[in-house]
Amino acid sequence: MKQNGRRYAFIDTHLEERRRRNRLRALQPLEHLPDAEVRINGNKLINFCSNDYLGLSQHPLLKARAVEFTERYGVGSTASRLICGTVECFQRIEQKLAALKGSEAALILNSGYQANVSILPALADRQTLILSDVLNHNSIIQGALLSRCYVERFRHNDVQHVRELLHKHYSSGYSRTIIITESIFSVDGDKSDIATLSELAEEYEALLVVDEAHATGVVGERGMGLTCGKKVDLTIGTFGKACGSFGAYVTCSERLCEYLINRCSGFIYTTALPPAVLGAIDAALDLIPQMDGEREQLHANSEFVRSSLHELGYNTGDSTSQIIPIIMGEETEALKMSNHLEEKGILALAIRPPTVPLGQSRIRLSLSALHTKQHIERLLDVFAAHGSAHAG
Ligand code: PLP
Repeated sequence: MKQNGRRYAFIDTHLEERRRRNRLRALQPLEHLPDAEVRINGNKLINFCSNDYLGLSQHPLLKARAVEFTERYGVGSTASRLICGTVECFQRIEQKLAALKGSEAALILNSGYQANVSILPALADRQTLILSDVLNHNSIIQGALLSRCYVERFRHNDVQHVRELLHKHYSSGYSRTIIITESIFSVDGDKSDIATLSELAEEYEALLVVDEAHATGVVGERGMGLTCGKKVDLTIGTFGKACGSFGAYVTCSERLCEYLINRCSGFIYTTALPPAVLGAIDAALDLIPQMDGEREQLHANSEFVRSSLHELGYNTGDSTSQIIPIIMGEETEALKMSNHLEEKGILALAIRPPTVPLGQSRIRLSLSALHTKQHIERLLDVFAAHGSAHAG
């Protein structure tokens, strides 16, 4: 029997609930301008929320090589890489990346999200134990769920807790144990202790997987992340953040790479990245090792913003990177601040539950090497004025 509206009622209920709680997400069209600025509704804003940490998204070499690859290979890869989509340039870029990361092998995937939701299920069977940092990105959480095995979340960045869990479960009969963490955490901007995790993985015969989405291009030798030179079984990274374009990679042993080519559904069952994107990735990999100057600028900008915010009395949590949360507490406070920043010409979004725990709503700043002294002064002036208005 038909009951009008019942089929779609869940949509309205969900959206209404979000609207009521002031949590409705909506898309806002914008135009990217050069030099870390954007235009929204006709207003020019300084962009403090993009992941374009080195400014490569507008770099002439990336644009030129994207065009060059399009001219040479066409606009599409035409199939999955295992069918007829492994255009010759893929393996050349993978070798370049593996050499830069100091790994035996590299494999390009279509996005960081796709990598995370499909690599864990490829590595795990139903008898596997996954130990996952409680603040890991949603794509890792989804990947762990899709693995349909036992998942324990360890306290954020708490290597002692990891040790306890490894010890507790060592003789529990799991087929294998996978530890997964991020190297620079996407919401808190702090860094994980990869050296200790690597030792623990060795001691307890676990696999260590590290997501370097926000570290690739930004930290480590040649900008190649925090896992370089460390014993990590598998590193995941994206080309959509500091590398300026799109796509993702894993680096690992040849043996594991061959396994993923045969087991990882997010690699096997999808059309390969288009040549234009490969061109941009190729150019980014040529530039990034030489960008120590930009990285120094980025770290100096980040340190200056963080220490200035501390002097003004703001809480930036445990951030030690280019990602700086300013913890405001209640959602309404974070939203008000984000709107106020926008009125003052600054784009910096409020991050609220469920992305962060209740009472931890924040403004999340991401710094770029492109931010000028004037951009940063303008940002800090707004926080200074807001702080004194509240103190008064
Ligand atoms: N992993 C982390 C830690 C991230 O922060 C993100 C993106 O926000 C992703 C993976 C997803 O990467 P991509 O944007 O390439 O899908």
